[in-house]
Amino acid sequence: MNLLVVGGAGYIGSVVTEELVRGRHSVIVLDDLSTGHRDAVAPLAYLVKGAIGDAARLREAFTTKEIDCVIHLAARSIVSDSVADPEGYEEANVRQGTILLDAMKEHGVSRIVFSSTAAVYDASAPMPLRETSPLVPGNPYGWTKLRFEEILRERARADGMRYVSLRYFNVAGASIDHGEDHRRETHLIPLLLDAALGAREAVPVFGSDYPTQDGTAVRDYIHVVDIAEAHVRAIRYLMEGGASATLNLGAERGLSVREVIGWVERVTGRGVPTVEAPRRAGDPPSLIASSEEAGRVLGWRPQWGDIDTIIETAWTWRQRYPEGYAE
Ligand code: UDP
Repeated sequence: MNLLVVGGAGYIGSVVTEELVRGRHSVIVLDDLSTGHRDAVAPLAYLVKGAIGDAARLREAFTTKEIDCVIHLAARSIVSDSVADPEGYEEANVRQGTILLDAMKEHGVSRIVFSSTAAVYDASAPMPLRETSPLVPGNPYGWTKLRFEEILRERARADGMRYVSLRYFNVAGASIDHGEDHRRETHLIPLLLDAALGAREAVPVFGSDYPTQDGTAVRDYIHVVDIAEAHVRAIRYLMEGGASATLNLGAERGLSVREVIGWVERVTGRGVPTVEAPRRAGDPPSLIASSEEAGRVLGWRPQWGDIDTIIETAWTWRQRYPEGYAE
């Protein structure tokens, strides 16, 4: 198959690309490298360096090969940033996405796998969250993703497009070659690993007064390789004529920030300095998935679900690449 991975130089996109190349698919990556890295793109993939809004590069991405399916992972994804800059998030996650959908239509591509998020849900709903749980995002990031899901539904009705929206919970861990390297790191596990390495001061624990077992926020951490596998299955599903679907991807268990800190200390064998801090803007207390529907529709089950495996793979990658990707 010929696949266009938009945002394929980012953390999740690079692992998706790696898996697709390994499956002998022909992969075009469109990425402006604003947050991704050239070295994160598997050598066998063809990188088109450009933004979705760059008409010439967008055309190149769609015409180098006849594309069977688009995988759209290019987005801004930091909850607290979205609170500070809702318009910027709307532009990046909604408007740029519709330009991509217009290009798909123009080039006769009708299948898309979209990176959505657990942030679309009403976090006060009972856990675990199912796809039928109420949708009331608690931050602008979640609203932009929900809006784009709605646009996909509208396009499916109007243009015969078919989509799979994958609602990721907290993606973490690494493959052998690809891991998490954000220029400005905000994610819990890589920050804790950096602190374990001595490369960072105390990591703030954002909020100790949540209504959770130990007062810190609870998340459902899912291995990035499992996430990539779900994309491979979603593409196959669409190619085989599957109907549009929206699916949660989580490991179906919640871990508090304090529990994750404990796991990082156990896996690395090192102490991790932390400091209590106020809640972070936009953070919900708890997000835990039911992934039953992804199992039913895609036959997907997490294979790397244990938190120690998730942390171990991230730790191995961090030690192999202490400076991250070359710039
Ligand atoms: N978190 C924290 N300290 C940090 C970074 C994150 O306490 O330095 C908490 C954050 O408040 C959330 C959880 O860890 O409850 C996961 O945050 P992350 O940024 O990794 O992912 P998010 O849930 O925001 O997508």
